[in-house]
Amino acid sequence: MKNSKGAFEYTFLFALLLASTTLTIGACSSKHVPAPQQKPPVSTATPHSGAEVAEKSLTHMIGPKSVVHEVGPLETIWRLSKMYDVPMKDIYRANGLRSGDTIKIGQKLTIPNAKTLRNIVALYPSTQWRYIVIHHTATDIGNAMLINRTHHDRGFWYGLGYHFLIDNGTLGKGDGQIEQSPRWIKQMKGAHCKAGGMNAKGIGIALVGNFNEEFPTQKQLDSLAYLLRLLCQYYHIPTTNIIGHRDVDGACTDCPGKRFPWSGLRQCLSSF
Ligand SMILES: [Zn+2]
Repeated sequence: MKNSKGAFEYTFLFALLLASTTLTIGACSSKHVPAPQQKPPVSTATPHSGAEVAEKSLTHMIGPKSVVHEVGPLETIWRLSKMYDVPMKDIYRANGLRSGDTIKIGQKLTIPNAKTLRNIVALYPSTQWRYIVIHHTATDIGNAMLINRTHHDRGFWYGLGYHFLIDNGTLGKGDGQIEQSPRWIKQMKGAHCKAGGMNAKGIGIALVGNFNEEFPTQKQLDSLAYLLRLLCQYYHIPTTNIIGHRDVDGACTDCPGKRFPWSGLRQCLSSF
């Protein structure tokens, strides 16, 4: 099984990055299945209104070289330009597009002379986010497009139920790449944890992987630490409100898995 690293590596990683919140751990079932939505959630903010954008390169540089990018949910040329450090006009030209042309989910675009791969995180003014709930996808592979489709098929009106997905290097995505869900871009409530009303007050972050079977990759954990720091600081969320799905009262799941490295994360969180 891939990514089977020792837990000590993650403890060490988090200790380097950031130190102890109390996280109660419980467990119920073995499979992570978010509850389907009964009706569409309500948008609570205008997309992009007053947003700040944080960006950070992943540790591996990829270029310059041309890459093919499969467009994820609500991705834009602007975002791809920032992700790959390529001018928007170059992406338009390489794909026979004109400024203002729309792109669609699943569309394959050539990104000429891509220099790097950056995590781009938009931060929208809001007072609704008071918790962060961590999940795993309970799958070996995944990306936002696939899970968006899967959640649609389960009856989620707006697809991908999480607000963020942290990839593990499968299905064409970078290891540690942070994908934003349309729910985050539109500041909609999630469909990741019905228990405790967390869909309305909790930011859902999922890591691709089955952490009952393996550990997250180091780059996924790097990106998780980065994202948690950003969100806690921007939304004034106390680190004690960073919880696992299984720790929410009423949630009957073992998500994010019995091998999720909480001890290292607690060390990391204490230095925020
Ligand atoms: Zn979960």
